[in-house]
Amino acid sequence: MPKVDALRRMIADATSIVAFTGAGISTESGIPDFRSPGGIWTKYKPIEFGDFLASAEARRESWRRKFATHATLQKATPNAGHRALARLVELRKMAAVITQNIDGLHQASGIPDDQVIELHGNTTYAACLDCRRHYELDWVREIFAVDERLPVCTACGGHIKTATISFGQSMPEAEMQRAQDVTLAADLFIVLGSSLVVYPAAGFPMLAKRNGACLVIVNRESTDQDGVADLVIHAEIGATMSRAVGVN
Ligand SMILES: [Zn+2]
Repeated sequence: MPKVDALRRMIADATSIVAFTGAGISTESGIPDFRSPGGIWTKYKPIEFGDFLASAEARRESWRRKFATHATLQKATPNAGHRALARLVELRKMAAVITQNIDGLHQASGIPDDQVIELHGNTTYAACLDCRRHYELDWVREIFAVDERLPVCTACGGHIKTATISFGQSMPEAEMQRAQDVTLAADLFIVLGSSLVVYPAAGFPMLAKRNGACLVIVNRESTDQDGVADLVIHAEIGATMSRAVGVN
């Protein structure tokens, strides 16, 4: 595996590594990629943020979908890929993980919350859209179980939604800024399991590269940015990263 050896050397030489993760790292934990062919979003039209705000039925439908897929997510645990990144954070080699995933598995693997930058939010809890107060999903489910009653914020009466960024919802400014800051400070930028098609998130690898960092892409399929990367590995993330980092 000469490519994995090359990655191991790049990791050893780097002082500020940033990982950028997409659905591919989570599918290895059994979480379906909703955007993939046959995924749920090819069967159901996504609920746009504007519709969620405007329509009680759209809000009910979003909670129906959430609770239909919730059990799969609750059962998922971090895999070897997540653990390899957690080890790099523990060794202070890795400054942060920027993720497009909403499953909270990086935090579950032991990476502190403030070193996980979630560009698309988090689906393991809910929040008020007005005052941002957090709510447990179990609390929402108890309310929704009674005639599909919609939860409202106990503090301000605002709409409550999973803490994810929906289609049509603007990107979170603070997270985008932090992602840019850590990207510009990186000397090694590793993309794991993202096809790099969803912008603006997919702009970070190019930003790192233009800023002088080494760019590595590990993904099962080829990506639009393979041509500019210093190293491309088309393989499973868990197996690749556990060998490159030396963890199981
Ligand atoms: Zn509120």
